[in-house]
Parts: sequence; C-alpha cells; structure tokens
Amino acid sequence: MLGSMMKKELLISDLIVHAGKYHADTEIVSRETTGALHTNNWSDVAVRSRKLASALQTLGLQQGDRVATLAWNNHRHLKIWFAVSGGGMVCHTLNPRLAPDQFIFICNDAADRAIFFDKTFMPLITGTRAHLKTIEHFIFMGPRDADVEAALPEALFYDELIEKGADDFEWPQFSEDTPCSLCYTSGTTGNPKGVLYTNRSTMIHTFAISLPDGLSLSSEETILPVVPMFHANAWGIPYAAAMTGAKLVMPGPMLDGDSLLRLIDSQKVTLALGVPTIWMMLLAAAKKSGSKMDSLKRNVIGGSAAAPSMIATFRDTYGCDTIHAWGMTETSPLGTANRPKGKHADLDADTMALLRLGQGRPPFGIDIRIVDDRGNPLPHDGKAEGALQCRGHWVVDTYFGKDAPATTGDGWFDTGDVSTIDGDGFMVIRDRTKDIIKSGGEWISSVDLEGIAVSHPGVAMAAAIGAVHPKWDERPIIVAVKAEGADPSQDDILALYEGKVAKWQIPDLVVFTDAIPLNATGKMLKNKLREQFGNVLIEKGA
Ligand code: AMP
Repeated sequence: MLGSMMKKELLISDLIVHAGKYHADTEIVSRETTGALHTNNWSDVAVRSRKLASALQTLGLQQGDRVATLAWNNHRHLKIWFAVSGGGMVCHTLNPRLAPDQFIFICNDAADRAIFFDKTFMPLITGTRAHLKTIEHFIFMGPRDADVEAALPEALFYDELIEKGADDFEWPQFSEDTPCSLCYTSGTTGNPKGVLYTNRSTMIHTFAISLPDGLSLSSEETILPVVPMFHANAWGIPYAAAMTGAKLVMPGPMLDGDSLLRLIDSQKVTLALGVPTIWMMLLAAAKKSGSKMDSLKRNVIGGSAAAPSMIATFRDTYGCDTIHAWGMTETSPLGTANRPKGKHADLDADTMALLRLGQGRPPFGIDIRIVDDRGNPLPHDGKAEGALQCRGHWVVDTYFGKDAPATTGDGWFDTGDVSTIDGDGFMVIRDRTKDIIKSGGEWISSVDLEGIAVSHPGVAMAAAIGAVHPKWDERPIIVAVKAEGADPSQDDILALYEGKVAKWQIPDLVVFTDAIPLNATGKMLKNKLREQFGNVLIEKGA
C-alpha cells in the first residue's frame, strides 16, 4: 500500500518560486565586475531567472544540456543558476583559476553547449576559443560591449538575450533525479573529474545545511558567500538563501580584505563563508582599520583546516563564532559542521575551544566512518586514525561520464582524507592521505604542525611536508612565508612546538620562501613543495 500525501518532485525551481513569492523584497546586493554595487531582490531574481530560462530555450538548448559559467559571485550568476537548473539544463560552474589546458579539457569533457562569462575572463575565452569544441553560444554577462564584440564577434549579450524570454514562461516539471549542476574536482594529480548533482540531491542538501545544526540559516541572516560559486556549489548558499529567504551579499571580483571588510560593515553582514586564506586577509584588514565587524556574528571556515589561532581571534577580538566545516566537491559539499550539542553547554572555555577546533559532525543525511589499510572499520573513539569514508543523499556515486562507480564495494565514498571520529560523531581531519608525514613508521599530522607555525604573528602562511631522511624515511619540515614587515627566525618558530607536540614530531627545519603555490581552489600544492624542498635535509647532510 502507498501513502496518500501529495507528491511533488524536489526541484531547484521550487526554491526560486518560494523566494520570489514569500521573500520578494529581501535584497540581493552584489558587486559588479565594473566595481559598482548593484541591488535587487528575490522577486527580481525570480522573474528574471524565469525569463532567462525561456530565452535559453530560444537558443535551442534542451533538457540535460550543459550550460557553463565562468563568473564571479554576482546577481547575474545567481539568475543563471536558477534559470539553467530550473529549466532542466545542467549548470556547469567553471573555475577560472584553472590552467588553460585543464579548462579546455573540462569544457570538452562536459560537452558544454553554451557558456556565460564575466568580462574579467575574456582573455581566457579568446585564448582557448579554438579548442572549445562543443560550445555554440558565448554569452557575455552584461549589456552589449564594444570590446567584447571586437574580440569575439559571435558573442551574445546577456542583457539582450534575457529580453527574448517570455514573461509567462512556466517552470517545466520533471523527475527530481534530473541533473541540475556539474562541478569538477580541482584534482592536483590526473585530470579533474566531474560530479553531476541531481535536483533531489541538491534540495536535500539545501534542507540539511539550513538546519540549526547545519549552518543555521534563516530570513534574519545577511549572508556573504565569499566562497566562489564555481567552487563546490558555493557550499550550497545560493540555494539555501532562497529556501530561507536570507539577504545575500555577493562580493564579485573584489575578494581582498579591505573590500570584504567594507561590504561586511556597510551591508551589516551577519554570516560569511570562505576558505582560510580569505579570512587571513580579512583579519589583517580589520586590524589595520580598527573595525570590530560588529554585525558579523558567525563565519564558516572550510576548504582547508582552520588554524586554531584564527578561530580564537574571531572569537576573542570580533565576537564572531566560527563554524569549522568539512566537505568536498563530491559531497555537494557539506559533510560535517562543528556545532556543539546540548550536553556541551557547561564545558569550560578551554575544553569548548578544543571541541570547536575539529571539523564537526555529520548532519542527518550523511554517514561517516574511518577504516584501516584493509578497509576494516576503526572505532569512533576520538583516537584511532583512518581513511575517512562517507555516504549519503548528496554524495557522488559515479563521476560524470564514467562507468565504474566512485564508491567502495560496500557503498562508501573514500574521501582521501585521514581523520579521527569520536563517539558523538565529531570528526577531526588529520591530513590528506597523501600529505601525512611518515617518520620512522609513525604518522605526523601536517595540519597540526601548520596550525602551530601560523600561530606565530610573523608567519603569514605555512606548509608542513615530509622531507626525505636517510634514517626515518621522512622528517617534518616547515615551509613558511613571512608576514609583511616581519622577520621571524627558525628558532622563534620551532620554540612554539615545545610542549604542544611530542618531541619527535617537532619539525627538523624551517625553510622560508616568498610564496606557497596554491591550486585553483586555494589549497596548498604540497606535491610542488615536496618537489622543491623534499631533499633539503639530505642536502644539508642529514
Ligand atoms: P574540494 O573538493 O576542492 O572542496 O576539496 C575537498 C578537500 O578539501 C577535502 O577532501 C579535504 O582534504 C579538504 N578540506 C575541506 N574542508 C576542510 C577542513 N575544514 N579542514 C581540512 N581539510 C578540509
């Protein structure tokens, strides 16, 4: 027997219908690529995204077709997201920081039929145009523009295209298992792989991240997603803001500390989300200006481990509660979020601070476990370290265009991370499997060593890597970038490790460098650092 309740497919278009109807006048403020601030509201996004979906049909685009974006976080990008997915097509967000070769590979692999692009990325488009085999429509995100016309005569213009759309267009209805968006992993080795989300997976993820024990979103919030919409679905915020009717503040291309600080203070942002490098720049700007970022109540840090000193500065200097979260392109992306439980309410400040350092626990909809080298599950005791695996409603099953599943034989996805999990499900990332330092058969977490190095005010960025050692196979070394105007010595930095880690885990050496190479999503490229510095101990006669 079946139940007898109304059945409606879970579709992305429902989000924008809801926001347009019940949060019509809630503002969307965005920084244009020209630098100007633009303000509209959910009603406008709802009306215009419907019109755009209709206009895309006039180009001959059909259900399932991939429509790419090469764009900053702004109001047009938001409307494209809803127009493409709501219209039954697949919104393929491209990362402009990719090397041109990878960019070409991804566009061709996805067989994108159309691409929307911001002016910033004109050179990337014209430089790769000859190799983009499947793209039929190049759509500039703005009004008609002479520079664009000159460089790309076949370009269409968003502001003109949208006017071709019908005002009375109705969102099509289809199965919730229809794909809605596509995002490629940033892959430091090998070719990037595509993750093809469904309307259903995205909708369930949106419910989950909005809950109090997720990111606790509501119509009372003013949210600044600094995390780009081309990285891991901007952590689901554009969808969840529509679901909850939150105000959105989109930073466009201006991601430096001063610009973000001005947005936070002028728009009274209550919640901001981004990777650690963004927060370093913001904290430096706030310190310089003296702003206390009074409106900012919470921030979400993910993408890489948040250093303990950063969480403490947000808490103690700015009264801002940091939610440390973990996720991947393959997990839509939220996997865990650090939200204390009721039973933690009476913890003393130090114990609470320690609890908040980890990446947190899974919301309903995600299950996590750790396994040993043979795939045997390890205990959730907060001590055992193993390969982190997960499964759930919004976790990849098979990469785009591949036949073999991305999962283990028993249905889990192996994340490539090493972690501990305690009895309450609180997970702590110890490392990437390939970055963990193996000294004499024992594991040393590079994340721990980095957190200590950057707690020195004279260190702007630090990576811990295993350098080849004749006796111990590998020994930890720190590759550090000095903060502007500071000149810390190796001894200053190594002194910080005394008493914080076991003696044998203290790095053997600190090497100073001008910059640490980052991948397209801002993660440190440790394989490059190992190539550069991996033999430094041998060279020094170890
Ligand atoms: P991406 O798919 O580019 O978002 O990368 C996902 C990877 O980023 C994860 O597998 C982790 O290695 C890393 N990561 C994400 N969030 C965190 C975090 N809070 N702490 C440590 N590593 C993280």
